Amino acid sequence: MVIAGGLGSTVWDFEGNEWLDFSSMLVNTNIGHQHPAVVAAIKEQAEVLTTVAPAHANLTRGKAAQRILDRAGGSFSKVFFTNGGADANENAIRMARLHTGRDKVLSTYRSYHGNTGAAVVATGDWRRVPNEYARGHAHFFGPFSYRSEFWAESPEQECERALHHLERVIVSEGAASIAAILIETVPGTAGVLVPPPGYLAGVRALADKYGIVLIFDEVMAGFGRTGGWFAFQSLAEQEGGLVEPDLITFAKGVNSGYVPAGGVIISPAIAEDFDDAVFPGGLTYSGHPLAMAAIVGTLDAMASEGIVENAAHVGADLLAPGLAELAAKHPIIGEVRGLGVFWALDLVSDPSTREPVAASVVGALKSALFSRGLLPFVADNRIHVVPPCVVTDAEVEKALAIYDEAFSSVAVGTG
Ligand code: PLP
Repeated sequence: MVIAGGLGSTVWDFEGNEWLDFSSMLVNTNIGHQHPAVVAAIKEQAEVLTTVAPAHANLTRGKAAQRILDRAGGSFSKVFFTNGGADANENAIRMARLHTGRDKVLSTYRSYHGNTGAAVVATGDWRRVPNEYARGHAHFFGPFSYRSEFWAESPEQECERALHHLERVIVSEGAASIAAILIETVPGTAGVLVPPPGYLAGVRALADKYGIVLIFDEVMAGFGRTGGWFAFQSLAEQEGGLVEPDLITFAKGVNSGYVPAGGVIISPAIAEDFDDAVFPGGLTYSGHPLAMAAIVGTLDAMASEGIVENAAHVGADLLAPGLAELAAKHPIIGEVRGLGVFWALDLVSDPSTREPVAASVVGALKSALFSRGLLPFVADNRIHVVPPCVVTDAEVEKALAIYDEAFSSVAVGTG
């Protein structure tokens, strides 16, 4: 398949075949394909200024930073721009190390933080092995009630035991050596692992207790995906109030990847470190004007067109009930979890043991979806249901029917 073009939630090839893009590419086209306002903003910027070194201020970068701070809310005071998500995490880790004078970073085994130096070492999935730069990093298990590492029988127990485990890791590693705890607010690639209520608040409390910088990686979860501007905002209700980190890393949805961009949103206590000292980060293209214009265009269109609200509506009113109905019909779906337009179907060969399905079954499902006109996102034994935030009700209904048919065909096919 060669993608020739796209619009909204649809992509097509040169033969005129169309697919509903329920992958959002790599879960990044939150505003959908070829949004005209964003394309226009990039063109307009191209007429004015197409490159400027990071050390020089420019109007569009200032506007982009302000838009992002407005959405992050709270007391966040500065934005450091990068070219994507991995280098956002690299720089957040560096800020935490400079701020604390400590070295170690704690992150979870079920995580993905990017494919560069410190980011891939912080990553907990298969990409961290082999890894020759592992000094200064330690991993722990985050909560995952469906496949509990802690023999927990309820989300409450999972939360309590996961926090106990994290504190044991902090103490065992030596609290005075730990610069940062880096977690995905909702681990995405690892399976859309929405944390149990109280977990984020508990991690915040541990970070405070031991003087550790808390970094929320919102590269995949941010900018509409969870039905809020940021996942930590979407989870405020379940946490009994807003749980803010010290640093937020972002990329993907901030401009839907129309021009590569990412960054770190910084709280004042850390931003002040660099009032008189130059932060030793930055690449030639950090804060590139075309990327900044795409951010301004994206965030303005998302706000004026109610795109984040649409993601919340689709999640609550269509995907939550629609996917639950699918799971009730197809025993291969062991668990449905998610929020907004951020869902995973955890596929099992036996619901009682929760044994993940074989790769061949996932492959067959992928083909069944693709041949019916749906571009899926597949990871391990899971199908992630991750359309753009602009997806329409009719497109969701069509997609649900395709998932249903695909599950039926594979069940028939495998006897
Ligand atoms: N962090 C998370 C949570 C991600 O999902 C990703 C990419 O999927 C990254 C970081 C890395 O981002 P990038 O590919 O832009 O470097």
